[in-house]
Amino acid sequence: TQALQIDNLRKTYANGFEALKGISLRVEQGDFFALLGPNGAGKSTTLGIVSSLVNPTAGEVKIFGYDLAQQVTEAKLQLGVVPQEFNFNAFEKVEDILITQAGYYGLKRAEAKARSEVYLKKLGLWDKREQPARRLSGGMKRRLMIARALVHQPKLLILDEPTAGVDIELRRSMWEFLCELNAQGTTIILTTHYLEEAESLCRNIAIIDQGEIIENTSMKRLLAQL
Ligand code: ADP
Ligand code: ADP
Repeated sequence: TQALQIDNLRKTYANGFEALKGISLRVEQGDFFALLGPNGAGKSTTLGIVSSLVNPTAGEVKIFGYDLAQQVTEAKLQLGVVPQEFNFNAFEKVEDILITQAGYYGLKRAEAKARSEVYLKKLGLWDKREQPARRLSGGMKRRLMIARALVHQPKLLILDEPTAGVDIELRRSMWEFLCELNAQGTTIILTTHYLEEAESLCRNIAIIDQGEIIENTSMKRLLAQL
């Protein structure tokens, strides 16, 4: 089974715009994979479909073998998503954001609290647990989104432009964190338009342009071509 399998995925938006023109993609378990492409290529649309926020027009998506259309609950359990924009309740306390999220995945209160502690510590947010999310700096908010995506311990983590607008120091520490997470077995997919980010992190890549996959290869082979 692959971590992610996409077949002939199409998305035509309500205005008639064809954002995905039948893409197919495989991401193996344990991979660190980058979806590269210029603005407007279809990266967010792809991630939106995989995270069940956007309905596909046609095609098939499987997460660890679970069909997203037919086995939604199982498929979603395997997946954590870090969206590009902050989408938590800014007035909720940092700790409660994680506990609430864990609750969505069926964890009992005590377990949710323990899990929340683990991930707040891992991401250096433990001291901020009593603060409302709006008090956090931009970098801390981003780390909070990562912690929230991990609290149910998904096997696949997807991040949309994880280091956009992040300073160099935080970028480095996020890269380190993601590498370690991947080394411990979590499959990671990120979108980026920085080749440099993909280069330092990812083993395999796909390049999407105007709704089509124009390249799908290993990072090594891509670099050898340049
Ligand atoms: P990327 O993430 O690679 O920048 P997106 O998936 O966000 O690309 O967008 C792909 C294309 O689809 C863009 O041309 C964008 O303008 C268009 N698009 C995105 N969302 C919508 C929408 N809701 N309605 C119409 N067009 C959209
Ligand atoms: P449904 O369409 O089934 O109502 P929701 O969008 O409400 O699904 O999400 C169901 C679960 O998936 C919730 O636990 C929600 O927090 C989680 N979820 C949805 N989108 C994301 C995301 N981008 N990152 C992390 N978890 C998400």
